Amino acid sequence: MDEFSLIARYFAPLEIPSPDVLIGIGDDAAVLAWPAGEHVVAAVDTLVDGVHFPHGLRADAVAHRLAAVNLSDLAAMGARPRYATLALTLPVLDEAWLAAFADGLGKALGTARVSLIGGDTTRGPLTLTLQVLGSVNGAALSRRGAQVGDVIAVSGTLGDARAGLELALAEPLARSQDPLLASFLWPTPRLALGQGLRGVASAAIDVSDGLLADVGHIMRHSGCAAEIDVSRLPLSSALLASVGAARARDYAQSGGDDYELALCIPPAALGAAHALARQLAVPLTEIGVVRAGSGVRCVDGQGRDVTPATLGYRHFV
Ligand code: ADP
Ligand code: MG
Repeated sequence: MDEFSLIARYFAPLEIPSPDVLIGIGDDAAVLAWPAGEHVVAAVDTLVDGVHFPHGLRADAVAHRLAAVNLSDLAAMGARPRYATLALTLPVLDEAWLAAFADGLGKALGTARVSLIGGDTTRGPLTLTLQVLGSVNGAALSRRGAQVGDVIAVSGTLGDARAGLELALAEPLARSQDPLLASFLWPTPRLALGQGLRGVASAAIDVSDGLLADVGHIMRHSGCAAEIDVSRLPLSSALLASVGAARARDYAQSGGDDYELALCIPPAALGAAHALARQLAVPLTEIGVVRAGSGVRCVDGQGRDVTPATLGYRHFV
């Protein structure tokens, strides 16, 4: 199969027909009509085999992850995702792998109503890049804007994906039904929450590198300090049962890959934020406050300083 029939068979079906796509897959570039008054929100993420996912991980889970990491970035900006382009570098043409990959990508993009409008296909070490384009009508959420006195809150539970990663390393084809493995394999970007909290939260980030590292990014961009009560971190019963309380807390603080949203919320907006979270059936837990200063300080339930065992993931240190 040549490159063109590969694209026609596996990727062209992921384009959603729309009058806004004036030119889609097949030409030199895509041409889009954009709704008047809306801003374009663009994000791109690359997954490298063996770096961002375990080597040999099932292809539909690789595709889901590729979509989720990008959609999660748009969720953190409060944007509605609309389009994606895919740059695919493959070591061999393995049709079974491609079929599973395209299936996983189609499901993940389809659920978010994202249309694949182009890409690039090359040979080389397995590397996957997705760019997503979304829109916001008004100001986006961002890492800037946290104010002293805001409450720090986080969606869902933290640390499950870190425990799930270990299961996936042991079993890359991941056939078992373990809930921790599932939270690593199938992260759910918090799109509706992010979009609903635009104009409610003062700042947001998606938790990809680990809670403390990511909250630190908000603080750096906003010029404030975070005080996190680590006794309040939301931990799932599956995580507690699997690794115990101490390691669960460490994973929740620093584990990464959670793709939850960490948010700063002005006290006056807390009611609206909790009401939205309840309506979406997404847990939203208050875990700290924004203070004057810089950096992230961890305290226990009595306000005493605690030193985290590990910090978040970094590529270049
Ligand atoms: P060019 O040589 O002009 O870059 P390509 O041969 O790379 O064109 O791509 C042909 C068409 O197929 C383009 O419209 C491109 O966007 C699309 N395309 C290529 N690879 C993919 C892919 N993996 N997924 C979706 N569309 C793709
Ligand atoms: Mg090309």
